[in-house]
Amino acid sequence: MTEWEMIQKFARGAEAIGDDCAVLEKDATHDWLITTDTLQEGVHFWRALTTFEQLGWKALAVSVSDINAMGGESKQYLLSVGLPSSVKPKDIEGLAKGLAALEKESRVTLIGGNTTRTADGIVITTTVLGTVPKGKAILRRGAGAGDAIYVTGTFGGASAGLLCLERVRHLEQPLRANRLPFVERQLSPRPPLQVGPWLRETGSVTSMIDVSDGLLADLTHIAEASKVGYVLEEARVPTQPGFEEVVRELKGDSILLKLTGGEDYELLFTVREQDVTRFERSLQDAQKQFAVSMTRVGTVVTSDKIRRVNDAAGNERKLSQLGFDHFAGG
Ligand SMILES: [Mg+2]
Repeated sequence: MTEWEMIQKFARGAEAIGDDCAVLEKDATHDWLITTDTLQEGVHFWRALTTFEQLGWKALAVSVSDINAMGGESKQYLLSVGLPSSVKPKDIEGLAKGLAALEKESRVTLIGGNTTRTADGIVITTTVLGTVPKGKAILRRGAGAGDAIYVTGTFGGASAGLLCLERVRHLEQPLRANRLPFVERQLSPRPPLQVGPWLRETGSVTSMIDVSDGLLADLTHIAEASKVGYVLEEARVPTQPGFEEVVRELKGDSILLKLTGGEDYELLFTVREQDVTRFERSLQDAQKQFAVSMTRVGTVVTSDKIRRVNDAAGNERKLSQLGFDHFAGG
């Protein structure tokens, strides 16, 4: 059963499910956004390969990223922590320090939670509440044919970092200096927090998602929700400096990592066709203001049967060659 099929079983047709956050009416001017995420030891992280501070940061970063992806601002959060007896007071201090750092960065306040002993393994759940002007949350289902597809930042870095960590774990290799930025990216993701609300305010963004599952998977989520197709220009998708070199060293496939590697926590969004020129003009200032790049990487097309990836020469890359078989939202 895919993750999506499992969600459908729980949802039993509930209509509101399927965006990054649930949207609830708050008052005359604003809606609430609510989202929850869990990090589990042995599934999402290994204790030997992360600090507790990084863990605290990431546990909250992945949830505030969802609020940002709806164009909202994070306000408060609940924290649920399950810890085995092997976790020491010093570790808990580290965890608290990492959470506090992201609380400051994203201006969220802890309002409650729960702690419990676990038989084995650390489990951390964050539930974040945010707000967005009434009716203005940006959903996945608004993309229309002709809209331009944009991304913030770079792709593949977090999954390259994961590959580096796996080498350390399995081969007990020390970490080379050129791999540190990628490991940092994997362990301490930095979602572009002010960019979500700014994009909403432009009035030109028709759909948005944060990229946790991988660029193609999350673009497919938008396409399915919007009942449209897409053409993605692979060569336009940016990567961070040193990416090709590190991936070559690891004998990885840089295109595969870029398009299908998860956990970059960048924003993927579509801009209304007739607003593209105006949007492009506003980009220069915004990129400087937020120190975040925004790049056009493709176009939305009418037919939901078209999910095409072009190489630099404009030829279609077969996705099966990229090893990307989980196309139906898995
Ligand atoms: Mg998300």
